[in-house]
Amino acid sequence: MATPQNTPPKNCPACGASVPANATQCPECGAALPPKSKNWFRNLTPTEIFLMVIGLIMLSIGLVAV
Ligand SMILES: [Zn+2]
Repeated sequence: MATPQNTPPKNCPACGASVPANATQCPECGAALPPKSKNWFRNLTPTEIFLMVIGLIMLSIGLVAV
């Protein structure tokens, strides 16, 4: 009986070899593997994060002022 795995293995986009889901580099060809899109907020630039914070502050001020 196979052991259950929460993170199924993925395939290297460069050479097609199966690599562990948590690997950041292909063990076969050494190609960098793209991280999961789950952490999309990590791709935001500081400027985008700053604008988001400013937007939230302005929104909360507008709600309180009314
Ligand atoms: Zn590879």
